[in-house]
Amino acid sequence: NMNFIADRLKRIKPSMTVGINVKANALRAEGKDVLVLAAGEPDFDTPLNIRKAAVTAMEEGQTRYVPGKGTPALQKAIQSKFLKDNNLHYDLDEIIVGVGGKHIIYNAMMATINPEDEVIIPAPFWVSYPDIVLLAEGKPVIVPCPEDQNFKLTADQLEKSITDKTKWLMLNSPSNPTGSLYSKQELQKLADVLLKYPQVLIMSDDIYEKVIYDDLEFSTLASVEPRLRDRCLTLNGVSKSYCMTGWRLGYCGAPKEIIAAMNKIQSQSTTSTSSISMAASVEALNGTQDFIDEHNQAFVRRRDLVVNLLNQIDGLSCLTPQGAFYVYPSCAGVIGKVTPDGQKISNDEDFMSYLLESEGIAGVHGAAFGLSPYFRLSYATSDEILTDACARIKRACEQLK
Ligand code: PLP
Repeated sequence: NMNFIADRLKRIKPSMTVGINVKANALRAEGKDVLVLAAGEPDFDTPLNIRKAAVTAMEEGQTRYVPGKGTPALQKAIQSKFLKDNNLHYDLDEIIVGVGGKHIIYNAMMATINPEDEVIIPAPFWVSYPDIVLLAEGKPVIVPCPEDQNFKLTADQLEKSITDKTKWLMLNSPSNPTGSLYSKQELQKLADVLLKYPQVLIMSDDIYEKVIYDDLEFSTLASVEPRLRDRCLTLNGVSKSYCMTGWRLGYCGAPKEIIAAMNKIQSQSTTSTSSISMAASVEALNGTQDFIDEHNQAFVRRRDLVVNLLNQIDGLSCLTPQGAFYVYPSCAGVIGKVTPDGQKISNDEDFMSYLLESEGIAGVHGAAFGLSPYFRLSYATSDEILTDACARIKRACEQLK
């Protein structure tokens, strides 16, 4: 019995959200009536001007190797984006492009983590953070951030979690899975703590920056506290804001030593993302931004619809998120109940299995994001599907005893 697989793979598990989407789509392909509310992407197509820029790039023969850090045009577009949107000046050697935001996080961890280095991850967290840290031989330090603090890390919790071994703090605002947004004041309080601990780097995952509602203002740590700028990695990408999840392009601004180290890894692995995706992303960043408001109008309408319907269901309760396109309702009220088949619902994973089997609702259980008993639904789908889904969830909950 040969074992071909490296030990390092034993530390990690496959992405749960990717897995659930594969499973739900397979059930649907078999003809089952499944509503998939597990997707981590906008349901809109990439805007036409961006697709056209890609076609032009292909026709013009931009089909060869390009610099791993990004073409000069893309580097400039990213530089102006950071300046315009975030009031952050990055030199060109402080910017790098990767194969999606996930790849930027992966390279940053591989470039900086030594065995036993600790990474503070507020929970609920995006599913990939702990596994990427583990793959890089680091130690995830999970800090539960309960609903009564809007699922956000407090300055007090941060201070208590920092040790001599702390290498990174992961911050994600607006958040996947909760949609919580950190205000400028909240970030300043975290910054005041971080200023005392010069060994800590901060990953500011701003990938949902443009998906914000109710005229709230987006803030990012490096800009809120300029004295932390040289310890921040400001992560962004085109996936969510520009509906470009399949194009695989993320980028960041960070201290140049870290960028150089990430570039070294990239030069021996992916080399770069696709030249065509880079050309399309130049248009995404420099071209019209008008569709962002249109998309957000649809998202906010769907958010209000779903939050309202979920809060009418006995056993569930749902906060109103400020951004991203997820809700993270509590299912505390159904835990301990029994299904018509006599199965006990002991946790959020049982509840999600029950919803899938009884009503064909595919969402993601809260345990995957490190905070139970909750579940995540994506509302990046039509009003009709959302209304139908909430009616099915209601019916399923009413059958529990
Ligand atoms: N960060 C968060 C919080 C996310 O939700 C995602 C995608 O789901 C990413 C980063 C990575 O995005 P991508 O690799 O598709 O650019």
